[in-house]
Amino acid sequence: MNQDHIIKRFISYVTVDTESDPNNPAFPSTEKQWDLAKLLVEELKEIGMTDVTLDENCYVMATLPSNLDYEVPTIGFVSHIDTSPDFTGANVQPQIHENYDGSDIVLNKEENIVLSPSYFEDLLMYKGQTIITTDGTTLLGADDKAGITEIVSAMEHLINNPEIKHGTIRICFTPDEEVGKGAHKFDVEKFGADWAYTMDGSQVGELEYENFNAAGAKITVNGKIVHPGYAKGKMINSMTIASDFINRLPANEVPEKTSGYEGFFHLYSLEGKVEKTVLQYIIRDHDRELFEKRKEQMQQIGADMNAELGSELIEIEIKDQYYNMKEKVVPVMHIVDIAEEVMKEQGITPLIKPIRGGTDGSQLSYMGLPCPNIFAGGHNFHGRYEYVPAESIVKATNVIVGIAQKVAERFKN
Ligand SMILES: [Zn+2]
Repeated sequence: MNQDHIIKRFISYVTVDTESDPNNPAFPSTEKQWDLAKLLVEELKEIGMTDVTLDENCYVMATLPSNLDYEVPTIGFVSHIDTSPDFTGANVQPQIHENYDGSDIVLNKEENIVLSPSYFEDLLMYKGQTIITTDGTTLLGADDKAGITEIVSAMEHLINNPEIKHGTIRICFTPDEEVGKGAHKFDVEKFGADWAYTMDGSQVGELEYENFNAAGAKITVNGKIVHPGYAKGKMINSMTIASDFINRLPANEVPEKTSGYEGFFHLYSLEGKVEKTVLQYIIRDHDRELFEKRKEQMQQIGADMNAELGSELIEIEIKDQYYNMKEKVVPVMHIVDIAEEVMKEQGITPLIKPIRGGTDGSQLSYMGLPCPNIFAGGHNFHGRYEYVPAESIVKATNVIVGIAQKVAERFKN
């Protein structure tokens, strides 16, 4: 695996602006995502992939045909084209720092922007390696162009080394992951894989198959406005009732006081006047039963308060957003075991931990494509301090090749 070749490929992707837009209902949410999609189609044809397609929703798919004389499951690898709208992805100027010595990396002299291991300790894991950073004014887009680089490079490696045996491999690059829609128009049937992996994690070794169950809750409190001088017994202040509602939820079950498998209620928006107050919550829990209980608990508080107030002043609307992929992955746990075994064989310590969020893979898992997440190698996503060690991109590429090989061995009768 030639590291310089891989770095060149990575840079050719990150210098194409593909920022997505959460406020545009169009699909894809930005036209510029087509630029990279089209470039990828050409490149995939060039390296010798077959069935290279770009559909009307900007999903790129391609096949690497099996070189076996027996049947094995078809596996897939997925990553996303877009970069986060949290920070600009226009005019990315990647900086390459070879043989990193463990000191501060000056990203931008004029603006005094420094990537320092005293703040970002993870950097020290990569002493002696080649670190790719931004120039401090944009994000890098290693999330998830490192993933695309790894998948394309692994396919190229398999094509150039036909002695490595593998079954049919499908790959897909999706638009709009960062705005939560990467799986929305994913044609799982056309993809036709038995399972897949998103290459969209962070640190080397990350392997994730558990994520939150998620719901959004909108609480509307209706009040009554009356002249304050004549309000006795008449005014109903919706803000006071709303603050009572907030205080009846468990004070310690909030994002800033939980970690690991602990769930929470997160109040992320409060808009109020006397007449009407709207609270917006997200509800999260890895455990499906506890998740259902949290939703019931919220409904119960509303019902209790309405009873106490003697009027239906509180309306609660709860909508499920996504579910823990664990339910879909555990019945096919070998797909995680295979990735774990490959990492161990390649000297990588698997870091298996629950995601405190969701991934495209969780939606895909519920659409019939079980889809754990594997590290892509980058750190500090969605901002100016984003970086990726070139060695980590190479390691993830090797893991893809290893998984392809292992599936061929494992299903040989
Ligand atoms: Zn990502």
